[in-house]
Amino acid sequence: MRVLVVEDEHRIANAIKKGLELEYYAVDIAYDGQQGFDLASGEDYDVIILDIMLPEMDGMAICRELRHAKNHTPILMLTAKGQLHDRVEGLNVGADDYLVKPFAFVELLARVRALTRRTKSSLSSVLTISGLSLNTVTFEVKRDGAQIKLSTKEYALLECLMRNPDRILTKDQIIAHVWNYDADVLPNTVEVYIGYLRAKVDKPFNTPSLIHTVRGFGYKIGQGR
Ligand code: CA
Repeated sequence: MRVLVVEDEHRIANAIKKGLELEYYAVDIAYDGQQGFDLASGEDYDVIILDIMLPEMDGMAICRELRHAKNHTPILMLTAKGQLHDRVEGLNVGADDYLVKPFAFVELLARVRALTRRTKSSLSSVLTISGLSLNTVTFEVKRDGAQIKLSTKEYALLECLMRNPDRILTKDQIIAHVWNYDADVLPNTVEVYIGYLRAKVDKPFNTPSLIHTVRGFGYKIGQGR
């Protein structure tokens, strides 16, 4: 899951990034409105956290422009305390939810999770394929009842695959949702991580493999080839 944070207050933006990274999200930050709009338009995010008062281009304008361009990425707006007008206008221009500053991080996390669930096929917090399950709240991964320990990136990669069962994902699509903008990723990196995942998720089990390579296209997870 990849999140864009558009917030000019560095302290708040950095705290959100740090907190979300601990929850296995890949996070990019834009410290001004124009950069935020450019990233939001050019990259494929799962959620955008958007402050309203920003230099260059304000949050309302960014939201309006994105929706106008048929970009439907869920947007969580950050509004200042007491600005009821902002909340109403934010929802009018196409934001999906808002959060009043100052907020507790757990509250932000709950909103982000709700927004990512809303857009995905599964409303449950547990993704399951065959005997493999991934709990997006506790980060527990199990196969046939046995617990599997994954690193942060392995988990993010498995979650990305499991949110798209039986669908081929290209390396670029995988990179777009699992790594942030600053990350030094080569297509080969995806192969390497797929290898790590296979070693933990498929190889130790005496059942058919779930992670498949589709030559020339990418990868998919599912029971069939
Ligand atoms: Ca601001």
